[in-house]
Amino acid sequence: MAIEAVRGDITKQEVDAIVNAANQALAGGGGVDGAIHRAAGMAQLRAACDALGGCPTGEAKATPGFNLRAQWIIHAVGPRWRGGGHGEAELLASCYRRSLVVAAELGARSIAFPAISTGVYGYPAADAAAVAISTVRSVLASTPLGIELVRLVAFGDATYQLYLELLADP
Ligand code: ADP
Repeated sequence: MAIEAVRGDITKQEVDAIVNAANQALAGGGGVDGAIHRAAGMAQLRAACDALGGCPTGEAKATPGFNLRAQWIIHAVGPRWRGGGHGEAELLASCYRRSLVVAAELGARSIAFPAISTGVYGYPAADAAAVAISTVRSVLASTPLGIELVRLVAFGDATYQLYLELLADP
């Protein structure tokens, strides 16, 4: 069981499941969501997302990965940052927790996450990285999910450095 950080593009990851930073409507969008739609195949992923009927903040729902190397896409809806006093940390933790559980239920043994909520949704990168790593660590330690690899994919160098620092500190 390993947690690792890489710098790169989540659509290129060779893992069983990748996580999308989606919106409640699962309607597609910019950022990582747009990149995943383009790489998976716009029309087929849009149709699969439409069939799911939306997703509440803090929850996660799966579609096939279509043209991706990953077999599944787990669409997780992160919170918009509203100053930190509106349950943002718990909702962000819930995204990571629920994504791991949904992926494990599908039989995934490896999963890659983007830095959910840290783009358009404005969650401060350092706080989001701390939530990501503490949540993944506690879920993997407390629940037998059969997941062997969790990869945190940083699109930028600042987020990558944050992950490395946090992972170096057990
Ligand atoms: P949100 O609305 O949850 O904030 P965004 O897509 O705007 O979602 O951003 C989430 C994070 O994903 C940001 O840190 C952004 O830099 C990163 N990101 C954007 N494109 C990619 C990609 N292709 N692979 C991995 N991460 C990406």
